[in-house]
Amino acid sequence: MTIAVYPGSFDPLTNGHLDVATRAARLFEKLIIGVYATPEKKLLFTTEERVALARQSTVHLPNVEVEAFNGLIVDFAKKMNAQTLVRGLRINADFENEFDMAMMNRRLYPELELVCLMATAEYQFVSSSLLKEIAKLGGNIDEFVPKPVAVALKKKFPLALKVK
Ligand code: ADP
Repeated sequence: MTIAVYPGSFDPLTNGHLDVATRAARLFEKLIIGVYATPEKKLLFTTEERVALARQSTVHLPNVEVEAFNGLIVDFAKKMNAQTLVRGLRINADFENEFDMAMMNRRLYPELELVCLMATAEYQFVSSSLLKEIAKLGGNIDEFVPKPVAVALKKKFPLALKVK
């Protein structure tokens, strides 16, 4: 069975992430979205919330699963019996980081192949961090995130709602 892991913070999952997951789900028999529990970033959502939002946003994709993980991506991929790692690439934002990480991951686990999917044009500028900032300031983020995420973001920033 071809199994791929798509790891990230997903804080929260955006339509850009969903687009990559949808396309990757067509390439592999099983796609596991790996929600990194403890990234070096300040998180808005707990691990449980990020997993739940990713699950709710991908219920329509039967071969997609969502799991939280800690530690090295390569160890998570091994545990899941995945042969491939999936990442999304946005213009400017991602290439250098992804390249460094890919070189390191190859050293750690040479058998794991990396597949990068180019971000779709309309999602090139969509990032979780930017959307959190817009939501915090009371802006409308509905067109950039799945419905459950839009609801969750509005709940996190009730004050922004009052200003509207
Ligand atoms: P990380 O903390 O690992 O960067 P993210 O949740 O920010 O995790 O992103 C997970 C993956 O999705 C990364 O490969 C990232 O480049 C990719 N990604 C993020 N936003 C988009 C987008 N709008 N379109 C396509 N890929 C994206």
